Amino acid sequence: MSTHPMSQPLSHPALSVADPELAALVGAEEQLQADTLRLIPSENYVSAAVLEATGTVLQNKYSEGYAGRRYYEGQQNIDLVETLAVERAKAVFGVEHANVQPYSGSPANLAAYLAFAEPGDTVLGMALPMGGHLTHGWGVSATGRWFRGVQYGVRPGSALIDFDEVRDLARKERPKIIFCGGTAVPRTIDFAAFGEIAREVGAVLVADIAHIAGLVAGGAHPSPVPHADVISTTTHKTLRGPRGAMLMSRASHAKAVDKAVFPGLQGGPHNHTTAAIAVALREAAAPSFRDYAHAVVANAKALAEALLARGYDLVSGGTDNHLVLIDLTSKDVPGKVAAKALDRAGIVVNYNTVPFDPRKPFDPSGIRIGTPSLTSRGLGTDRMPLVAEWIDRSVQAAAKGDEDALAVIRGEVAELLAGYPAPGLATD
Ligand SMILES: *Cc1c(COP(=O)(O)O)cnc(C)c1O
Repeated sequence: MSTHPMSQPLSHPALSVADPELAALVGAEEQLQADTLRLIPSENYVSAAVLEATGTVLQNKYSEGYAGRRYYEGQQNIDLVETLAVERAKAVFGVEHANVQPYSGSPANLAAYLAFAEPGDTVLGMALPMGGHLTHGWGVSATGRWFRGVQYGVRPGSALIDFDEVRDLARKERPKIIFCGGTAVPRTIDFAAFGEIAREVGAVLVADIAHIAGLVAGGAHPSPVPHADVISTTTHKTLRGPRGAMLMSRASHAKAVDKAVFPGLQGGPHNHTTAAIAVALREAAAPSFRDYAHAVVANAKALAEALLARGYDLVSGGTDNHLVLIDLTSKDVPGKVAAKALDRAGIVVNYNTVPFDPRKPFDPSGIRIGTPSLTSRGLGTDRMPLVAEWIDRSVQAAAKGDEDALAVIRGEVAELLAGYPAPGLATD
């Protein structure tokens, strides 16, 4: 592993003394995040300010309830922190109500079930292998075991969501909740089309924008407002905040949403996370975040073009957002083999199913890549042909078992990235 002057690990003076073993692991992770090209589309680099907020004494405080209505005393500051986060969320996303307490995206979605459905009720969501999320009613998830999950997919040729299927299923199955959004959807989500179907069948539409929240905030993806009844999102993906989540809604659903999160599902909110969400939302409201969101998409499109030019098959033929799903079938390299080789080359991706994948989910045909992290480091479209070249060389090396070639790429990656210090990591 190479080291270079641009990525000096942060020092953790107290931790280094109290627990050198753990401190060393944190330091190693900082080095890894500095030296590797992180292409996992659900990951990002938070700013130093967001990172600092997560490490504050706010974490010492118990605050069950909501601002002005707590079950514990001493909320003079916490109430103001949470109100700041709520008001900023409302402003950034243009919503009437925001709950910033869900611990993460999966609990946020479970709260939506608790608010709007009873166990055994039917819910309609995108199938996991088609790009949906586990919590959209997939069988192994609590949501698929405690509710009756009915699943829609994409069309075989275009890999676009099949709205005829969504409408037919909605009319026939009469779901209480319809989920839209996903984890491996490279194209714009048509919230208006989902909204129309949900209204027709009297279902609550939950737009799960976990992946694209930063793009929505920055105006680089259409907003689910006013089409969705509830908007669920993580805060740590393209939104570039701490690990956490939010549920947003119309005022008419505010009570149901709040009651479901607390006392329905959770206890005390993670106030240090709430604070960091507030910081991230302040950053997301700045004009520079609009530039960031648009740059993420421009980079993804440029990367997709460069991969197509190298003969790669992309699910849906390209991308509208931050994410590219590569089908490696024609390259004769399974997704997992490619992902592990790329990791050795300093390029971090995840293997992923592609729609109608003939292979098993634990050994699928594709890899999923995205541009939020590299854009946070300041890489622009001019660098995407090189990124595509590295991916191509790594996949070819994987096919041949050429470890030396992977090591060479790893060095090239670290060398380039030394010129693009990552937020929160380098002394930038
Ligand atoms: C990431 C994600 C989630 C879950 O978030 P966690 O914080 O990992 O629980 C839910 N829905 C979608 C669409 C996601 O992409």
